[in-house]
Amino acid sequence: MPIANAGQFGYLEQEASTAYVIRLLALWNRCNFLKKLVLNMPQLQEGNQELWNRLAATHNLCLGQTIEHVSRNQTILVKTTSNQWEFERLIWTAPVDDFLSVADACTEEVEIFSRVRTIKRAVITCKVEGLPANIFYVIRNTLNQPLPTSYPLAIYEVDPGSKIYNFYPFMDETTTVEELESNVADCVKKLGGTQVTLMGQPLIWKWFSHFSAEDLKDGIYQRLEMLQGNQNTYFANGMTAGVSVPYGMEYAAYLVERFF
Ligand SMILES: Cc1cc2nc3c(=O)[nH]c(=O)nc-3n(C[C@H](O)[C@H](O)[C@H](O)COP(=O)(O)OP(=O)(O)OC[C@H]3O[C@@H](n4cnc5c(N)ncnc54)[C@H](O)[C@@H]3O)c2cc1C
Repeated sequence: MPIANAGQFGYLEQEASTAYVIRLLALWNRCNFLKKLVLNMPQLQEGNQELWNRLAATHNLCLGQTIEHVSRNQTILVKTTSNQWEFERLIWTAPVDDFLSVADACTEEVEIFSRVRTIKRAVITCKVEGLPANIFYVIRNTLNQPLPTSYPLAIYEVDPGSKIYNFYPFMDETTTVEELESNVADCVKKLGGTQVTLMGQPLIWKWFSHFSAEDLKDGIYQRLEMLQGNQNTYFANGMTAGVSVPYGMEYAAYLVERFF
């Protein structure tokens, strides 16, 4: 559980549905034994950017467009700040709460998407002296010895030997940036580090779109699947797929297989 909490659930450990925990473990089980043992994060390989450049070259991409309005009748009208397009189908890959704020959502979409919950987490990047190289620490035994929400639960060296470390705490409504930073300093001290230099402001993210255990029991995901294709609209995002890039890609492939 400490690894699952550090990776995904944070202070939700008591209430997150077991289904989400199993899904996370299933993802980890794809790693080989050595990877699981040292928990080292996969790094982007050389050529990754070129792959995306080549893929983009075969598509009509309109980057930097914020969708402000979606209306669906015979066709689907999508408006951004500077443009307007008409489509036959819409695949929505942004978070579903953003969909509710810009689209002509139907009753079932409102009913399902307004039940989505999220939490907040932060990434704090620091240069630290005195810690071992190439580490990936997960704080042990958080179930029996609860820590403040804003205490970093995972720490790893971004590039082996660089002394640049990422710290991963969660946040609640009361968490301040000062609190995040002082918890990092405390954690470094306890690990034997000597000097911490922040590399910038913490990056703060909305994290882990999920439903309550009650909603799961009542078949919310079945309702979500029934919604797919309704009004020629499809949803492919962290909500429908689950957290992680691999799950996102696999869900997108499943949608294509099912509908296109
Ligand atoms: C700090 C952090 C570290 C992570 N590390 C990993 C990792 O190591 N490995 C891993 O597999 N996963 C990791 N994840 C999880 C992974 O990033 C997500 O599961 C995945 O990106 C979800 O994909 P998505 O398409 O649903 O959403 P996103 O990737 O968030 O994409 C949604 C996009 O929609 C855009 N958008 C929102 N509203 C609008 C609008 N109105 N108009 C136009 N565009 C809009 C947003 O700008 C965004 O670009 C990490 C996540 C975070 C936050």
